[in-house]
Amino acid sequence: MFQPVIHAFDRGARPERQGAIVPVVEREARAGEPGALVCAACGAPITTTASRVERFGAHVHVFSNPDGLSFEIGCFSAAPGVRLVGEETLAFTWFPTFAWTVALCARCAVQLGWRYRSASGAEFHGLILERLREVGGSDPVPGGAEA
Ligand SMILES: [Zn+2]
Repeated sequence: MFQPVIHAFDRGARPERQGAIVPVVEREARAGEPGALVCAACGAPITTTASRVERFGAHVHVFSNPDGLSFEIGCFSAAPGVRLVGEETLAFTWFPTFAWTVALCARCAVQLGWRYRSASGAEFHGLILERLREVGGSDPVPGGAEA
């Protein structure tokens, strides 16, 4: 069975409200930078910096679970490099009214985050930023000719 993740809650929040979204940290995204974001594990192209979007008031949201693990999630309008697995569900969603589906790297299958979709069809990807690596426009691509 899927083990539900309970979020860290701000003081005064109501933890019994299932599905509550409580971003612990929100940061400004650096917008407009060129470059690809690749899977940190295998280097497969996942999305681009141009696909960064703000959802629920920020590009980056940080969530914690009861084990003290925290996930720094970036919102992206598209992530062509992921493969969705499992059933879409609203259970314990971090983004109210948006159902999530697990998103894996299409090449190496490491979990990169989740695809979120609303009943009206609006969707975005919430990707775990430490599992992505930015490849700048003029930087050589790792794993190239010299690898
Ligand atoms: Zn990968």
